[in-house]
Amino acid sequence: MEKLVGIGVSPGVAIGHAWIVNSEGLRVSRRSISAEAVDEEIRRLDSAIADLSDELAQNRDTIAGQLGEKYGAIFEAHRQLLQDSRLHEELVEMIAQRHHSAEYAVCVVFNRYADIFRGLKGHRLAERASDIQDLQKRLVQRLLGSSQISSEKPNGPVLVLAHNLTPSETANLDTRYVLGFVTEVGGPGGHTAIVAEALEIPAVVGTGSFLDQVSPGDLVIVDGTRGEVILAPDADTLARYQEQAERWRRRAQQLSSLRTLPAETRDGVRIFLLGNIEFPSEVDHCLREGADGIGLYRTEFLYLNAQTEPDEEDHFRVYRLLVERMEGRPVTIRTFDLGADKVLFLGRPTEEKNPFLGLRSIRLSLHNVPMFRRQLRAILRASAYGDIRVMFPLITTLTEFRQAKMILHDVMEDLTEQQIPFNKRIPVGMMVEVPAAVMLIDQFVEEADFLSIGTNDLIQYTLAVDRSNRDVVNLYNASDPAVLKFISMTVTAAQRAGKPVSLCGQMSANPLYTMLLIGLGLRHLSVPPMAISEVKKVCRSVTVAQCEEVARQSLAMESAQTVDKLLRGELKRHVADLNG
Ligand code: PEP
Ligand code: MG
Repeated sequence: MEKLVGIGVSPGVAIGHAWIVNSEGLRVSRRSISAEAVDEEIRRLDSAIADLSDELAQNRDTIAGQLGEKYGAIFEAHRQLLQDSRLHEELVEMIAQRHHSAEYAVCVVFNRYADIFRGLKGHRLAERASDIQDLQKRLVQRLLGSSQISSEKPNGPVLVLAHNLTPSETANLDTRYVLGFVTEVGGPGGHTAIVAEALEIPAVVGTGSFLDQVSPGDLVIVDGTRGEVILAPDADTLARYQEQAERWRRRAQQLSSLRTLPAETRDGVRIFLLGNIEFPSEVDHCLREGADGIGLYRTEFLYLNAQTEPDEEDHFRVYRLLVERMEGRPVTIRTFDLGADKVLFLGRPTEEKNPFLGLRSIRLSLHNVPMFRRQLRAILRASAYGDIRVMFPLITTLTEFRQAKMILHDVMEDLTEQQIPFNKRIPVGMMVEVPAAVMLIDQFVEEADFLSIGTNDLIQYTLAVDRSNRDVVNLYNASDPAVLKFISMTVTAAQRAGKPVSLCGQMSANPLYTMLLIGLGLRHLSVPPMAISEVKKVCRSVTVAQCEEVARQSLAMESAQTVDKLLRGELKRHVADLNG
């Protein structure tokens, strides 16, 4: 049994068998073969070993010629390892006696060998573990062949274990089979984390390297609430987590009794809880949870889930469906926020050194105006069917905001000329997620119909800390007083100008922050649907005066840690049973 600690990004407990996606995208399933196929499988294994041996011999000769015998000897050592008779015997035994496929046998046997070498801590032979891992990868690659690499998909319940998953890979996980996932890299605010929550599967990211310690099919526990992963759990641990999974289910059931009640503080102030969605199908969950509308639709997932760019009709169909399903409640459509970790094939340079500071979001829209216009036309057309609002992401300068609005007005003129109906007074808002925008917020708020604070990015740009990098996770903290001051400045400016303001970063989904955000003056919070009940429970347990006192104290503090401590204490005091 081995316990890993990472960052829990989507709560709940999942228990299942490992489905490994390694960094080359190879998937090795626990495939069995028939007794008749054993000879052919051994032949396949031997042929892959022979091919790889030849390649290693060639490498040995080439490198020895170019750099000297000493360097060539490295490849000779690999070759000898590959041809080790005991290793071969074990592989054959896995195939002949246990009827495993050749690639599965390679995974299990090579992992075992790597573990033995790794255990020789301090001994120079310990370094051989990575040689074995490397040979394993190359052999599996040969056995699978490129045609099988992309076609293999789980067809039963599994836990996906990967070095990394991009947001679009995550969005394409088949939740009929994928119970949860773990990635070696990744941080708390990355979009992979956000998609995990949307899919409602427990997930842990940023565990550090562990894939070489598991074999496909191994039993694994993912605790997305605590950020823990247990490999090969013993019976006691398994029983404990099964109980915890059951407790989690019961708690979700208890919270569901709040669905029909309003999010109102004890002193009668109404807080509006809206849903953040990435996929149109989530509208059902928003409705079930009694959401007051959709506060953020991340439309970039329409692009990330498609093979080609969605056309105007594709957009229109989705937006119309959403707004009709929401039956009069507001739906805020954010124009595509592509780039950075949400990479697309379209209209973007292939490599960027600092993608989060590069051609992303509204910058990409202004860089690719025809694509932007196609989306805007669809949003406007759908606005004839209900309360749709349009919002631009990552606005940094006034010029940028004015340019985006100018394009929108131009599209409006086209539609008017073509006599296509749309809401001529559609509210146009902006996301506040860059410190520069906060510094000029009084000017922005004059030109915006509403503001929505995107703390996921605001934290990253305020504290200069990559939201998806596990190595700086301790610095990525919504409680930092600098972040709180920016939120407070934005809310105050909106209040002064009489414009609506909401907060749609992940921070709003964490009940720890609910009192603080109400105290800072927010009355609209947009959260993933699965978080609505929990946040509502806090709203219904506190008074605005208590919240304002929490905000006042937090703003006067010097560090995120002291703010965290205060918030934890207040949450416990007012909503004692929230975590159990
Ligand atoms: C944010 O930055 O807080 C936000 C809501 O946008 P995204 O997470 O999609 O960047
Ligand atoms: Mg953002």
